[in-house]
Amino acid sequence: MRSTGKRLAVHLHPRAERAVKRGHPWVYAEGIRRLRHGGQPGDLAVMFDRENRFLAIGLYDPASPIRIRVLHRGSPRKIDEEWLLGRLGASLDRRQELRGQDTTGFRVVHGENDGLPGFVVDRYDSSLVVKLYTSAWLPHLQAVLSCLKDLIGPERVMLRLSRTVQAVADPSAFADGQTLHGEEPSGPVIFRENGLRFEADLVSGQKTGFFLDQRDNRALVEGHASGGAILDAFSYTGGFSVYAARGGARSVTSLDASRPALAAAERNFAHNRDDRNVSAASHRALEGDAFELLPRLRDEGRRFDMVVLDPPAFAKAAREVPRALRSYRTILRQGLELLRARGVLVAASCSTRISATVFVELVQETAAAAGRALHVHHVTGHPADHPVGFPEGAYLKCVFARVDAG
Ligand code: SAH
Repeated sequence: MRSTGKRLAVHLHPRAERAVKRGHPWVYAEGIRRLRHGGQPGDLAVMFDRENRFLAIGLYDPASPIRIRVLHRGSPRKIDEEWLLGRLGASLDRRQELRGQDTTGFRVVHGENDGLPGFVVDRYDSSLVVKLYTSAWLPHLQAVLSCLKDLIGPERVMLRLSRTVQAVADPSAFADGQTLHGEEPSGPVIFRENGLRFEADLVSGQKTGFFLDQRDNRALVEGHASGGAILDAFSYTGGFSVYAARGGARSVTSLDASRPALAAAERNFAHNRDDRNVSAASHRALEGDAFELLPRLRDEGRRFDMVVLDPPAFAKAAREVPRALRSYRTILRQGLELLRARGVLVAASCSTRISATVFVELVQETAAAAGRALHVHHVTGHPADHPVGFPEGAYLKCVFARVDAG
């Protein structure tokens, strides 16, 4: 990283100081007691305690309520390209176990949880996607690129920007979907996940093109799908659907509000036609709002042996939690109404603000209110390439449960 930017001396309030000492990676604007001069996005902020001793060093972002993201704490050290290479190399090492699983699409860097806050790298075969959640990384992109080339040697590197970064970045310099290195992709990129072939739109797909965090849960769905009729609600490009088909499902329905996502789901089935089970399964794509389509399927008398519910994060902020809980309750009830006796419910939530405990309780309460006895088999979290390094990092939970015969 180029350390040519200004260094900001920052003094913290006691609470923020304690959080940083405990290893929390965020310093909110309210946590800053004194800041000598106004900083630019990406400046290195050197934080000191009450006795003027070095605490930590982080990236400054004047546009974000998370004003500083901690890069390093403990004793002072230079934040340069060598430091960045070290962090990226360690992240890569932590993914060693994915080798040999016939998986070429996975997360290489998971932000804060890998010691690189606000910074994500996903790998899709020989392409990389860098996704930034703070504009503080923009001035350091050259260093990032040079390290990624050294460590991985990708054919191409794409840039994706979160909505908040898009709002503040100079569009003539940085655009969401821009190719940083290599040739622009001529279409979706194909990669493998547990031996299945999927495509990802690296330029304009959701997240970085695919929901890589559901890999392990998809494998569990595959194991429960044999012979059944499966509903994959909030399917996006049909990740769960294709696994269910390989697991021997008789029929699979992918339901989503996004037409391009469903078109990709159809193609993802086609990419795996050489698998006997996938080619034998009948696949239907249903476009529309799940909250309207699930009751319609119920009224049409459709019933399923497995219902997967993987909605978007209903609660991103604390104030959205009560409404989010109502939405989860509604969709869970609607999903349960479509399940046959002995059917399997797979319900995921990616809302950081709703804990696994609260979510499991919600699933059980909703089932009880609907008069269905439910046995929870597994509650899963994150796959190994999405480690959890701080409390806010634990966003994904997924409940696998079977309803009783009666
Ligand atoms: N299960 C997917 C990821 C789901 S992400 C996978 O494994 O890849 C959430 C999806 O919900 C997105 O594809 C989005 O288009 C869709 N979505 C959001 N609101 C919706 C609604 N009201 N009805 C149907 N789909 C919706």
